[in-house]
Amino acid sequence: TIYLDHQATTPMDPAVAEAMTFAATHCYANPSSPHAAGIRAFREVERARGAVARFIGAGRSEICFTSGATEGNNLAIKGVVRPGAARHVVTTAVEHKSVLDTCRSLREAGHEVTVLPVDEEGRVDPGQVAAALRPDTALVSVMLANNEVATVQPVAEIGALTRAAGVPLHCDATQGVGSLPVDVAALGVDLLTFSGHKIYGPKGVGVLYVANRLSDRAPLVPLLHGGGQERGLRAGTLNTAAVIGLGAAVGVLATGREAEAVRLAGLRARFLSELADLVPYVLNSGTGPGFLPHAVNLSFPGVDAQQLLLEVADLAVSTGSACNSSAQEPSHVLRAIGLAPERIRGSVRISFGRFTTEADAATAARALAAVAAREPARSA
Ligand code: PMP
Repeated sequence: TIYLDHQATTPMDPAVAEAMTFAATHCYANPSSPHAAGIRAFREVERARGAVARFIGAGRSEICFTSGATEGNNLAIKGVVRPGAARHVVTTAVEHKSVLDTCRSLREAGHEVTVLPVDEEGRVDPGQVAAALRPDTALVSVMLANNEVATVQPVAEIGALTRAAGVPLHCDATQGVGSLPVDVAALGVDLLTFSGHKIYGPKGVGVLYVANRLSDRAPLVPLLHGGGQERGLRAGTLNTAAVIGLGAAVGVLATGREAEAVRLAGLRARFLSELADLVPYVLNSGTGPGFLPHAVNLSFPGVDAQQLLLEVADLAVSTGSACNSSAQEPSHVLRAIGLAPERIRGSVRISFGRFTTEADAATAARALAAVAAREPARSA
């Protein structure tokens, strides 16, 4: 199989697997235990915490390990917008469901939510964020990069204005941390989420960054109560091996990220030009600086993408977001950028990664083109 679905998840880097094997073998003790074995596990967890903190320019005390971005997004949003007096939240129409559905649950609990539209590239206008702010706004949540159309949001610009207004800013950075420089101070965020498995780390582990300036003022309300781990923010014995694996994953990423971004953009260009020679398609995402370097979303006119994927053996790509594909409903992101239902039906998401070769990109283009070229005739 040629795996070109790195926005859904990434294969584990061998260095991560090695670190996890070590952890599973030698760091089995509970990192909260005061005996020597516990202290050894604790030290490795803290080393990982330090690596994650450095990776995003945060302090170690600002890193909370979670089970992934879904939990991190839930904790950030429900943790800040506490029950009680109704408050207001601002987000965008293209967020992941773990943000949008969390906001919907707040709405059901009596809070108000403003969901801002995006332009045809999927980008939110910082001016509209500013205009949406109210005296009772408790939180703004804007993603770093989109998981379907790869749009990079102007988070730093939004951070400057939320900071000036004294409103906390949360950023779901799940799709950006692997290929964009992420520095919490430069972005101006108070909360930031990501998952291990999108950056060649393990599944079931993630990070929520909570700025000390925020938690000192008003500690987040935890989702999980219990043993007081993670400074009371997230109870439960840490998934030590996964945390250590995540530490290794950010260690690998921290070296050579820029060169890798250039290489990935090159693979994408190669793929697209090869494809263009063989079959007509339209781009649903951009390939310039305002987009992730390794991803592209495109539609084959007249083709049913679901059918197409069934027929392209040995190629792992996706239609819209993998999280949505069981739902069988048209992608909320593609609708938000204004695509017609026909174009959404024909849309395919392709994302390259660390182990993708030039040959993979070319082979994938030929395989997709071969099926796409005969599809429209059949459905006509
Ligand atoms: N946010 C974004 C932008 C994502 O792409 C994903 C994964 N599709 C998530 C959140 C959820 O991550 P996880 O499934 O690891 O909890």
